[in-house]
Amino acid sequence: MGALSVVLALLATAGPGDLTGRTVVLDPGHNGANAAHPEIINRQVAIGGGRYKACNTTGTATPGGYTEARFTLNVARSAARILRRQGAEVVMTRRTNRGVGPCINRRARIGNRAHADAVVSIHADGGPAPGRGFHVIRPSWIEGLTDDIYDESLGLGRALRRAYEKRTGLPRATYLGGNGLVARSDLGGLRLSNVPAVFIETANMRNAADAARVRSPRFRRRIARGIADGVRRYLLAQPSPSR
Ligand code: ZN
Repeated sequence: MGALSVVLALLATAGPGDLTGRTVVLDPGHNGANAAHPEIINRQVAIGGGRYKACNTTGTATPGGYTEARFTLNVARSAARILRRQGAEVVMTRRTNRGVGPCINRRARIGNRAHADAVVSIHADGGPAPGRGFHVIRPSWIEGLTDDIYDESLGLGRALRRAYEKRTGLPRATYLGGNGLVARSDLGGLRLSNVPAVFIETANMRNAADAARVRSPRFRRRIARGIADGVRRYLLAQPSPSR
């Protein structure tokens, strides 16, 4: 075997524990009590570069009322279990669906303080009803804010897009006209992150076909698996952590 074949064989056979020493922050979007507390979530918080944005939002829901906040927590828990089995330390920005917030700046701080190797904010979109699919959001280049995480976040985004579409079979968002990987400059979670970070809009909750999928416990496990696979693929491509 050549050197490349050896590396590929090692990657293919890498078992439980190969993410030991890696820290992943999973950030389930929104929270169950946000809608009842506009006075808290509408408070403006600094998102860097002199800009401000609401602490948080309510998130979306399927036409039947299954909320994004419940969905993202469910998926994050499943993805966390998978990554922990592989040895990663996983930090969640919230553990229940009964609270308010935390604000977007605090969520970013959790990733920074954990010195996370990767941060994934998990969302589902409230896009136009005829449109389907997922997209990953990476930070735009902003001098002094995201320049330090730009390249690695792009790598994380590409790995996540690839693994996610493979596991779920969901199309790249049909209503955006892009390639499933979008750069944005307005998200506080990305602007304030000092560690590689992306968002994933896992599906369009306002679309009937996507809504049926996110409501299925079985499909949610595929979504979680896709996210975990993407993070894993990215982490294993990085230099090993010093221990
Ligand atoms: Zn959201």
